[in-house]
Amino acid sequence: MSADPSSEKEPSGLRPLPSVNMALLPDELRARRTRRLVLGAVVGAVVLGALLLWIARSVIPQTWEWMEDTLGHQDAKLAADLGMPEGLALEEMDGGVEEELTEEQTLALSRSRPNARYETLFGGVPSFRGALLNAGLEEDECAAIEQALQHIVDFRRCRPEHKLVVERDESAGLKRFEYHPSATEFVEVTRAEDGLFRAEQIRVKVERAPIARAASVETSIGDALVGIGLPAGLATFFVEAFEGQVNFALQARKGDVFRIIVDEERVDGEFLRYGRVHALEYDGQRTGKVQAFYYQAGNTQGQFYDDSGRAMQGGWLRTPLRYDRLSSRYNPRRFHPILKRTVPHLGVDYAAATGTPVWAAADGRVTFAGRKGPNGNLVVIRHGGGFETAYAHLYRIKGGIRPGKLVKQRELIGFVGSTGRSTGPHLHFGLKKYTRSIDPLTELNGPGLRMAARELPSYKDAVAGWQTQLGGIDDAPKVVAGADEPLVEQVDEIMD
Ligand SMILES: [Zn+2]
Repeated sequence: MSADPSSEKEPSGLRPLPSVNMALLPDELRARRTRRLVLGAVVGAVVLGALLLWIARSVIPQTWEWMEDTLGHQDAKLAADLGMPEGLALEEMDGGVEEELTEEQTLALSRSRPNARYETLFGGVPSFRGALLNAGLEEDECAAIEQALQHIVDFRRCRPEHKLVVERDESAGLKRFEYHPSATEFVEVTRAEDGLFRAEQIRVKVERAPIARAASVETSIGDALVGIGLPAGLATFFVEAFEGQVNFALQARKGDVFRIIVDEERVDGEFLRYGRVHALEYDGQRTGKVQAFYYQAGNTQGQFYDDSGRAMQGGWLRTPLRYDRLSSRYNPRRFHPILKRTVPHLGVDYAAATGTPVWAAADGRVTFAGRKGPNGNLVVIRHGGGFETAYAHLYRIKGGIRPGKLVKQRELIGFVGSTGRSTGPHLHFGLKKYTRSIDPLTELNGPGLRMAARELPSYKDAVAGWQTQLGGIDDAPKVVAGADEPLVEQVDEIMD
């Protein structure tokens, strides 16, 4: 910045100073003096501090011992946090004090000190040995640790962010080593009485506590979740749990309110992640109030149930593709557009672009795959319970889909087309139960199975508890048509 020479003569820059003996100074000059004074004071303080530190170190080394341990540990932590080699941080912090030591010597000193304990990251080294050497361990110590870990740790799965902890005893010998591949478990290597190192896998205790939150939807469930400090990804639980009942893309409205009870997982009090979703409630203008509760009944896989114990999912995909519109419903008395006569339409037609993926509606075994008259390219799958699904007019059947093949729900079986007797690209989706055609929309949209009666009492108990908690989010926003307040304002009220 170049100073304007005219400013010193500028009368508007003059202001009276407290002392009458001092010449009045223009602001610019005064500011420059102040800067010089501050700089001087800072340099002086730094020099004095360094001097004091040096005196303290050379005169009373024993009182510094414990502090150095602490500092060394913090250096390692700092370096680890910054993701840089520990030596760098140490050099920066100690460089001005012990200039006669090289970086390596300083590092080695800090790590071979009695009772030292420090953490490093695995880092970008190509081998476990490399990480151990970087952590300041001697070759023989490395070998002992590797030996103890060889059947426990898969060294190929080490990642740069994995943490290593080294602890030395009072005579600076290796006492403990820890390898932390995740926040929830680690491997501990300790020296036993016989002098040999033994490894033990330790599972960190994860504390789980359900939290109950509510929010009102302004733009999307995901945004509203973020607004109350939860991850947007939890929105998929709403979409999946209510798949058979609510189409959020069409039915969600601004001002709808949802409530969620989800486990917060912590390790040593530190937040780790969100875990199990226990209860969901969505209360909307178009959807009404719907609830779902996660439960693991007996030996079955855990899933969401409604409050009466009926599974939210029927075990079927309601629609085996992403379609543009439903172009023709199930109709036993339909007038056929091509044949110009009444021909029953024993299925549902979904209009979709040619090439749109078509999925198996449920687990099953392929019983037919190929061209079949007016059906064009057809896939038929037999499922449990006497059900059979048919997928007609496919542009192409996916390779490998042939009679006898087992398919999983949502597995790709072919692509939408207009083969056979068809007026445009669409999927004809048919459903039979014991060889009789039935309407997929009424059959597959229905609720899932009821859980076994013997499970119901304990399920009802659990639900009562969750419902009390859901209702306990007292000051949750009310369902308001076209509410204008920004979501964040309302969130402040919800959150304690
Ligand atoms: Zn059709």
